[in-house]
Amino acid sequence: MKSSAVKSVELDIDWAVQTVMPIEFQGRELHLEARAYQGVDPHCQAMVLIHRDNPSQGELPVVRVHSGCVTGDIFHSLRCDCYPQLQASMEVITTSPLGVMVYLPYHEGRGIGLVNKIRTYALQDQGYDTVDANVAIGAPIEARDYDLAAHILFDLGYSRIALLTNNPAKVNALRAEGITVVEQRSLIVNASPYNKRYLATKKERMAHLL
Ligand SMILES: [Zn+2]
Repeated sequence: MKSSAVKSVELDIDWAVQTVMPIEFQGRELHLEARAYQGVDPHCQAMVLIHRDNPSQGELPVVRVHSGCVTGDIFHSLRCDCYPQLQASMEVITTSPLGVMVYLPYHEGRGIGLVNKIRTYALQDQGYDTVDANVAIGAPIEARDYDLAAHILFDLGYSRIALLTNNPAKVNALRAEGITVVEQRSLIVNASPYNKRYLATKKERMAHLL
């Protein structure tokens, strides 16, 4: 059932494609249900991976809404904690009866894009923290929206979820879109010498639970 709280944007969401995706994860071959969605803006696309292992009726899905990060997710950059968070989430998702990964490539650099993100890295090299660097280039500190993610969850029939995140703002953003976050589960990731300051800023200036 779709909630009446869902905005009319829902009608504009293009339900694109569905397939089965065999993946290798930590030495195991897993077959996940894979879907792709596109928002009103064709730039807003999402990859969804669903793991089902005999979920019981009314099973609470464990969900990760992951903001794409080319440097972290693909090249394992140590400047952020995206890759360990992605790995930790996949571990939980693929060992849960019902786990869902909603991957949002257009959230790159907290929504400011790859070029601006690298620009802020250059400023961080000069001593700015992650928040001040965004301010210095005139970019918003947080430019991510969660309406597509929320609509996807409604489309899947998962309006009640356990969310894997350390970010209270993400919980609030999904709640504002009508999703019931029954539970927030933190992801433990280790700091590296490169992301120490990044993680400290997340904790001190962006209220992350680290
Ligand atoms: Zn990252």
